[in-house]
Amino acid sequence: MRVNNRDHKEDGKTAAKRMLGLMGKLITLLVQLTGCNFWELLGLTSIWKGWASARCKFFIWTLMLERILTADKLLQRGWENDYFCPLCRRNLETASHIFTECPFSLKVWEHMAVALGLDALKPTNWLDKGLSVLEWYMGLVGRQTKSQRKIIFPASNLICWEIWKERNRRIFEKKELPFTGLLVRIKDEADVWRLAGAPIPLVTQYGGTPFDPG
Ligand SMILES: [Zn+2]
Repeated sequence: MRVNNRDHKEDGKTAAKRMLGLMGKLITLLVQLTGCNFWELLGLTSIWKGWASARCKFFIWTLMLERILTADKLLQRGWENDYFCPLCRRNLETASHIFTECPFSLKVWEHMAVALGLDALKPTNWLDKGLSVLEWYMGLVGRQTKSQRKIIFPASNLICWEIWKERNRRIFEKKELPFTGLLVRIKDEADVWRLAGAPIPLVTQYGGTPFDPG
């Protein structure tokens, strides 16, 4: 039986067109669902490549989409909330505030940057203020070389995760770890992640001054 090459080429082109059409529809749907543009979506997909527990990755994903239920979101819905960030008790709690602006969290980042020997985690090395959480995170991780990114990804995921857990502890359990206690908790968790295979450096020292509640 003779094979008609022209028909095969046409079938191939049609299948490729159909595939591109489906991908376009999928991207459009994701843009509508997430509110992100194409490049932000590309950044979001990289979250799943970095080392972190499944629960932490899911949390980071919802954080990047700013879908975590912080006080500003609860206010918008008319739901009961405490208004103030439970970590510093000075500002309205928003996702950006908790992770990129809160004086308590900034101290945690500063200490852990020294402890892990990762300068990129120092707030003084971050990009300009006023960025969305996703822009901040992509700036933090995206500016690194590929080998550095493998280390920065899990370290930043872990710190975000532990800051969020401390925030929840204060709101839902009415308990709080002292500042140094939280640093020890992050170090212990880093040890667990490292044993599980995460490329997180060993904590050898702490640096900087502790958080001053004022
Ligand atoms: Zn705060």
